[in-house]
Amino acid sequence: MSKSFNRLASVLKLEAQQGYQNKAVVGGLRQFISFWISQAREEAVDEADMAFIEQTAEALSDYAVLPGKMARAGIVQRVLEKLEQREQRVARLEPVGEPADRPLDTKPEKEISSPVSGETAVTEAVSDDEDWEQEEEDGEEDREEEEEGEIEEAPSRPRLTRPAAAPDAEGVGQNVIAVRGVGSHMAGLLANLGIETIEDLLFHFPRRYDDYTTMKPINRLKYGEQVTIIGTIWEVRARKSRRNTTVVQAIISDGSGRIQATWYNQPWLTQQLKSGHRVVVSGKVEQYLGRPVFNSPQWELLSMQALRTGQIVSVYPLTQGLSNYKLRKIMMSAVPYWARRLEDPLPDGMRSRLQLPDLATALNQIHLPESQEEMLAARRRLAFEELLLLQLGMFAQRRTWLEIPGQPLQSDGALRRRFIASLPFALTGAQERVIDEITRDMATGQPMNRLLQGDVGAGKTAVAAAAMVTAAAAGSQAALMAPTEILAEQHARGLSALLEPLGIGLVLLTGSLSAGEKAARKERIAAGQAHVVIGTHALIQDDVAFANLGLAVIDEQHRFGVDQRAALREKGPQAGGQTLTPHLLVMSATPIPRSLALSLYGDLDLSVLDEMPPGRQEIGTHWIRPRERERGYGFVRGQVEKGRQAYIICPLVEESDKIEAVAAVEEYERLSQKIFPDLRLGLVHGRLSGAEKEAVMRQFYAGELDILVATSVIEVGVDVPNATVMVIEGANRFGLAQLHQFRGRVGRGEHQSYCLLVADESTPDAEQRLSALEQTNDGFQLAEKDLELRGPGEFFGRRQSGLPELRLASLTDMQMLQAARDEAGRLFEEDPLLEKEEHRLLRERVRRFWEEAADIS
Ligand code: ADP
Ligand code: MG
Repeated sequence: MSKSFNRLASVLKLEAQQGYQNKAVVGGLRQFISFWISQAREEAVDEADMAFIEQTAEALSDYAVLPGKMARAGIVQRVLEKLEQREQRVARLEPVGEPADRPLDTKPEKEISSPVSGETAVTEAVSDDEDWEQEEEDGEEDREEEEEGEIEEAPSRPRLTRPAAAPDAEGVGQNVIAVRGVGSHMAGLLANLGIETIEDLLFHFPRRYDDYTTMKPINRLKYGEQVTIIGTIWEVRARKSRRNTTVVQAIISDGSGRIQATWYNQPWLTQQLKSGHRVVVSGKVEQYLGRPVFNSPQWELLSMQALRTGQIVSVYPLTQGLSNYKLRKIMMSAVPYWARRLEDPLPDGMRSRLQLPDLATALNQIHLPESQEEMLAARRRLAFEELLLLQLGMFAQRRTWLEIPGQPLQSDGALRRRFIASLPFALTGAQERVIDEITRDMATGQPMNRLLQGDVGAGKTAVAAAAMVTAAAAGSQAALMAPTEILAEQHARGLSALLEPLGIGLVLLTGSLSAGEKAARKERIAAGQAHVVIGTHALIQDDVAFANLGLAVIDEQHRFGVDQRAALREKGPQAGGQTLTPHLLVMSATPIPRSLALSLYGDLDLSVLDEMPPGRQEIGTHWIRPRERERGYGFVRGQVEKGRQAYIICPLVEESDKIEAVAAVEEYERLSQKIFPDLRLGLVHGRLSGAEKEAVMRQFYAGELDILVATSVIEVGVDVPNATVMVIEGANRFGLAQLHQFRGRVGRGEHQSYCLLVADESTPDAEQRLSALEQTNDGFQLAEKDLELRGPGEFFGRRQSGLPELRLASLTDMQMLQAARDEAGRLFEEDPLLEKEEHRLLRERVRRFWEEAADIS
């Protein structure tokens, strides 16, 4: 039967006759196709037909927006040609019998009502469905062959016995080789995963689970649900999307129906997914053209054994040469025996208060769960433990900090008031409040340890300056460390104009000064002639000595490592044989929920600038396509004609600074010769010397340049209120926080400002980031989105934060964070040093947990 194919042919012929106006059918071709597709699939005679239907549907789905007649004609003619070829092919097949006669092809409509949205599409039969039993056996054999490992047989249930000979005197601290079934080859593979000891093995958690207990047939899927299916791959195709992403699509069928799975930017999948493979696929069922589809689902080759026993299968992080199958066998042998030999660090009382399983139970159930509930309870327990260790560490750090001697910086506030009065604006309420909090801290003999949070443009610099004036008024020195020379110079330029009239000496110290100049400035710092010192990492070099550093400020703290922050803090003066720690103010533009901040930076006090300076307007943010770039340039030109200035950001090049600089130079030349030959353009990138950078930035500040072409060197802090438009090329390559920082370079003055995002490639992640930016200017909301997209580990940048790795705990689980904080507080009150016998293990674990963090930071 070829009714639908014939109908398509007549529609397309009519469309051609009418001059490709998309009027051959009411509602246009896209709509026609969306109905046509399910009928055509019912009439498909072979896989080639299925492929043809998919391709046709895709080719015609954006017919309406194709640019012009030529493009439309091209597609229509191509489809018509294919239809003709099909006719010939089908004619040859004819003698074999019309496929529609096969019983499987005519499933009754009523079966169709339960599947996804009652759409026929899901239920069409699978023509090549094989004998399942047979296949299973084969599959099993294949598996066993390819998996021949050090374990001869796979126990289907965990064993509770262990080899007689292995001594367990050393317990779980001994090498994994003591585990039954682990030989030296296997131990080597495990070492690649960082697993040395049995304990490491027990704490090597699954990254996810395939739940063979709740498999669903494809024709029972519902839109929006999270499911796991098993099926055979029919066909795998790769193509380039319009945005130049590689799109891999596989059709998976299970006898009840078929579903399409799509992956983006993973071209290698065509090597891993082959037609005929049996796979387990987990993901969310989505709808496309009335059919169920998966977008970027998880997948795994099918494990026949697990399928047969209906287990929940743990899926582990793996290494080359180690299959999940093998690792699971090892876990089955190791966990039941060894988990019981680990002592539980959580006191009984705490465990029962929170209804958490004990450690041995939790380890068994996280590796070898028999139900989802067990697995979730196990994760909860282990996650809680991590958060508790985190909180206990925070309490301990805070306690240590409070014992450190500092120096009180007191003044009558007169100088600070004169400074504030000399600012060209009135402080916001939030700025006043925070300055109060800071000066109060500084007046005590205990060193301040404060985090100042405020969105990009909230006015953190003025707050820091007020604190530095306070330090100077009290007769000590203040230092401000910024992550880039450009930023340090900007701060120095802005502040010297304000501070010098007050008699406060300011010195700028950066790496690119000449040796002589540097030496002279260091001398002024050591002699105490410099009251306020502004600089880059140059400030923390060993040979920089302060006469009396009383306040250390760190701007854009996320750009510094823990060690760098600590190094500045250690530059305090000596008194009576010990170092007096300066007051510390760290500033961050990454706003996070207060409760989260308290948990994460529990050793810091928190101040928040939750109010923007008045008159700020939303920055109009638009994500434009590369082909709309010309219009973007037109817009930039318009702003320049109004007397404003613009930034054009070059794409990030991960590989090297040098390549990035070369690309930036090319872009600069293209823009200045071809696009804006009549305007004044400047260029900054990471490969310029300090002096060169400064010269260009100076021109831009002074309004002598209309457009600044730049790499990410201007990401943070740069403040030119007359700049009103920023074009970010390759916006897809930057993270959300970074893009928000960039955008914060405009909209700093009274003029309406704009940000144009140009993506050179598009991935689902990038799309989410860019549309989030389009939707809001609120850094708080963006930070939450970022946290959600990247996960806490990436978000906080472990290296910078110095936080231990959390393997299971989620920092977005506020309830559990709070519980951990409460329990830590309770413990801390009862036994601050965890000296009691029942806390011995806990103390040991806190120490190790934080030590590991120190190792990597
Ligand atoms: P950030 O918090 O991002 O470091 P800045 O301190 O650079 O922000 O301030 C952003 C801009 O807002 C600067 O141009 C600054 O002079 C200006 N600004 C700061 N505070 C106020 C205020 N209270 N009223 C008006 N403008 C202000
Ligand atoms: Mg700033």
